[in-house]
Amino acid sequence: MRVPLLDLSEQYRALAAPIRAEIDAVLASQRFILGPQVEAFEKAICRYLHAPHAVGVSSGTDALLAVLMALEIGPGDAVITTAYSFFATAGCLARVGATPLFVDVDPKTFKLSPTALEWYIDNRCKRDSHGQLRDSAGRRIRAIIPVHLFGLCCEMDAIHAISERCNLEVIEDAAQAIGAEYLTAHMGLRKAGTMGEVGCFSFYPSKNLGAAGDAGLVVCRSEELAKRLRVVRQHGMEPRYYHDFIGGNFRLDEIQAAILNVKLAYLDTWSAARRAAADFYREEFTRRGLTNRIALPAEPYRERGLTNHHIYHQYVIRTDRRDELRDHLAKREIETAVYYPLGLHEQKCFSYLGYKKGDLPETERAAGETLALPIYPEISREAQRYVVETIAEFI
Ligand SMILES: *Cc1c(COP(=O)(O)O)cnc(C)c1O
Repeated sequence: MRVPLLDLSEQYRALAAPIRAEIDAVLASQRFILGPQVEAFEKAICRYLHAPHAVGVSSGTDALLAVLMALEIGPGDAVITTAYSFFATAGCLARVGATPLFVDVDPKTFKLSPTALEWYIDNRCKRDSHGQLRDSAGRRIRAIIPVHLFGLCCEMDAIHAISERCNLEVIEDAAQAIGAEYLTAHMGLRKAGTMGEVGCFSFYPSKNLGAAGDAGLVVCRSEELAKRLRVVRQHGMEPRYYHDFIGGNFRLDEIQAAILNVKLAYLDTWSAARRAAADFYREEFTRRGLTNRIALPAEPYRERGLTNHHIYHQYVIRTDRRDELRDHLAKREIETAVYYPLGLHEQKCFSYLGYKKGDLPETERAAGETLALPIYPEISREAQRYVVETIAEFI
């Protein structure tokens, strides 16, 4: 039995007619960039996320880049983030000339560890005479980028407390977590991307809400920042052909927005189906007595009365025999993936930052032990049973 990691063909078949009708309408209008579909999508996302402002952009990467440009984070600045993420999180920092400062992850959730963050700030950073937090090389620490990896929110209460104490902006990388919820101590129930000053989303086709190409979005609390982001996404141009600051071409296409407008209505149903699939994996692993051999995804917010306590963008297990298990599954036509095989601090392109192996032990251990199993809303129980059975056979 062949089990793909992700298969969205069934989903497309169900929505092909309305999606094609919307694409046709855009083609007929001949308006392709920043038109009524983009505006409608921005409004719909604001309603869905309970966010005050949304700015559609060209990708999740460009969302991060545009935010850093709009906040004027650049040379001489540093930003604290995780090394256990997709490259874009740190890549964008380097592109604007800022320095990524990597803090280790929690071994259960794989997210930025508030304990490690606090330790880093208290032991490796200093405050200057103006109260500005600086790293050991004297760079101004401007922000924290928590990444809500795999569809589960970071521990935002703890991160919020630290950012308040140190006067840092919180830029959420919510690329993998659209709709994921968290119960905050000071704002009640919030969705990923709306707990910090600003949140970044990706609609890369394989994300829970996927476009038919690249697309992304920024949400923010401040109207002023939203205005600036709208200018940044058009080369910093305001008015036409006058540029007070540098931006880029970060615009969202009408066709992508039209497709996303159709799909957004189904997002919660899809996330619920992913969660049901995750529950079924747990039942099967438990039934076969494998939970002491394989670490299943942590669900720290399950008991907090949230619906989308996890949206299972990925279903990631952990085992110290990861590579052997992966080969075993591949031989039986089960597709898996490793997110991510190498921490960002060990990437060649970041060697100039001076990190070495051993600096982030939990990140490094996770990179060697995690394995993403097939998950998508329409995955069959039969396929899942086969996956668990094949893992049991290996063990
Ligand atoms: C997908 C992703 C991005 C980048 O989004 P793109 O739309 O592919 O540019 C950034 N951060 C994380 C954590 C992601 O998963």
